[in-house]
Amino acid sequence: MKRFEKIYEGKAKALYTTGNPDMLIQYFKDDATAFDGKKKGIIPEKGILNNKISSRIFKYLEGRGVATHFVDMPTEREMVVKKLKIVPIEVVVRNIAAGSLSKRMGVDEGAPLKETIIEFYYKSDPLGDPMINEYHIRAFGLAQTSDLRKMEATALKVNTHLSGFFSERGITLVDFKLEFGIHKGEILLGDEITPDGCRLWDKETGEKMDKDRFRRDLGKVEEGYQEVLRRVLG
Ligand code: ADP
Ligand code: UDP
Repeated sequence: MKRFEKIYEGKAKALYTTGNPDMLIQYFKDDATAFDGKKKGIIPEKGILNNKISSRIFKYLEGRGVATHFVDMPTEREMVVKKLKIVPIEVVVRNIAAGSLSKRMGVDEGAPLKETIIEFYYKSDPLGDPMINEYHIRAFGLAQTSDLRKMEATALKVNTHLSGFFSERGITLVDFKLEFGIHKGEILLGDEITPDGCRLWDKETGEKMDKDRFRRDLGKVEEGYQEVLRRVLG
């Protein structure tokens, strides 16, 4: 399938039309941003690594009954996906305290949680993706309640499957962000599942293997992503 017209260029990916009006191509770039785009950089080969990691994970989830937008990975940087009307909500799932949750609640990173937390953020770059709750979602009409219930249930199912998938590969799935969209009336998991949007810690050493290496200048950023791909394919 060929890339036609670029219809969107985001921070990490660009979207192109294809010969099929129901399909788009997601083109994975090496650009990395953090702190609402205030920190910018390049992680060499990130686009290739993330496309391969995400394609493998989407296939794995499809095999376990999770409906995703994934269709095919025709080249190293391209993913053919079903065209979605993106629901403007980022769904964050947390198994262990880290990042903004640690800050907000005043707990150390790595602190265990009594149960899994789901959070919603309004997907808006100019507003810096503020945290919202179900009342905001209903009051501002960001999603149908039935779709929200499906997103929540899917997020928990993804968490169960991916926690196991990563654990078998020596990785703790600390937290992650999902995006959903509507395709022909059906709600599908979209975007990407990669170290850009997941916290992945080595089970033995606790070493970070995700975008926190870039956010916090920990070094060996590309190596972290490469190691995730190696284990994801292993
Ligand atoms: P951002 O928009 O935050 O800078 P990216 O650079 O990752 O993020 O851009 C990819 C964009 O494509 C995101 O806005 C995402 O919501 C959107 N997207 C992901 N999957 C699909 C899809 N299947 N159809 C339409 N849009 C999608
Ligand atoms: N996340 C993301 N995009 C965002 C915000 C968060 O992919 O715009 C992911 C992030 O990589 C982490 C999880 O969601 O895996 C929780 O992020 P957190 O709220 O702790 O924010 P951070 O401190 O990373 O900004």
